[in-house]
This record gives sequence, structure tokens and C-alpha cells, in this order.
Amino acid sequence: MGRMKDLLIQQQEQGWSFVGKNVCAQCFTDMVIRDFVTARTTTNECDYCGRSGEQPIAAPIDDVLELMAEGLSVEWGDAVDELPYESAEGGYQGKAYDTWEFFDDVVGFPSENDGVREDIVSAFRGRLCCQRNYFSLSEQDKLLIGWEEFCDEVKHQRRYFFFNTGKRQLHRRFYAKSLVLLMSWA
Ligand SMILES: [Zn+2]
Repeated sequence: MGRMKDLLIQQQEQGWSFVGKNVCAQCFTDMVIRDFVTARTTTNECDYCGRSGEQPIAAPIDDVLELMAEGLSVEWGDAVDELPYESAEGGYQGKAYDTWEFFDDVVGFPSENDGVREDIVSAFRGRLCCQRNYFSLSEQDKLLIGWEEFCDEVKHQRRYFFFNTGKRQLHRRFYAKSLVLLMSWA
């Protein structure tokens, strides 16, 4: 009973629920997660694709969820902590995403396996995600960030984060604004 309670408290604090399955690197499309799993294999069979090997090929998906939660927390928080709530104005004042929408449309799933996707969503279920410090970036800051990241990406084509497609989507509107601004100066 005590252990169960500790587990519930831990889940609440970390913001995601344990899944308790094992997953192999091939079930992910994200290279950082693939390397992460490869370095932590503990069991010989993947619970998602059914692949098995003589040697361990799968790692606890809970370790991956912890990595994802850590990475996401740099830029994303919970609406309850970040946004003002006005019931008369229809709820949260700012853009908040439910779990599926957040992974499907905003950051992008790091896997194409349906079971992995479903478990990611159920682990993070119930959270409304929004950008951290939603109201603290001025328009000018946003333009500057957009422009710098645009230059950086053009120059280096580097990955900034393991959800690189999500990040690109996120700042696409800033790039666009930056370009419009530059053209107006020319
Ligand atoms: Zn697998």
C-alpha cells in the first residue's frame, strides 16, 4: 500500500505515468532516442514490435519517457502553471494543447509504432501543454530568435533538440515574420 502511494506521488511529481514495458531502438525514428535505447538494453524482446534477439535489444520505455519529459520541459510547461485562467473568457488565456494534439501536431512523435505512440500519450495523459514563459517574449525577441535560428539552420542544418521537426514547426512563424521584417528594411 505504501509503495503504491509512493508510486502515485512520484508519477504526479514527474508529470508522467510509468508504462512498464520494454522497447527496442528500431521502434523509434528519432536518432537520439535510438542511441539512448541502444546504450541501455536490458531485455531480449521488444514488447512493441515483437522483435527478439540472442542479446538484449530492448530497454524500459519508462527510461525513454523520462528522457522525453526532461527534453520537453526546457521549452514546454503545463497550462496550469504557465497561463492565466479566465472562465468568463473561455478558459486558459493562451494556446494550450491536449496530449494527443501536442505530440501529433506540435512536437511530433519520435516513433511510428502505434503502440509506442499510444503509450506515450497515455503516460502524459491529462496534461495541457503550452510554451513556457508564454507572455515573456516580446515581439522583438521573437523576431530575433526566429532570425538567428533561421540563419543557424541554413548554415549548419544541425539538430537542436531531439524533436527537431517540432522545433522547426514551432519557429516557422517566427522565421516568416523575420523575413518580412528584413524585406521591409531592404
Ligand atoms: Zn521494437
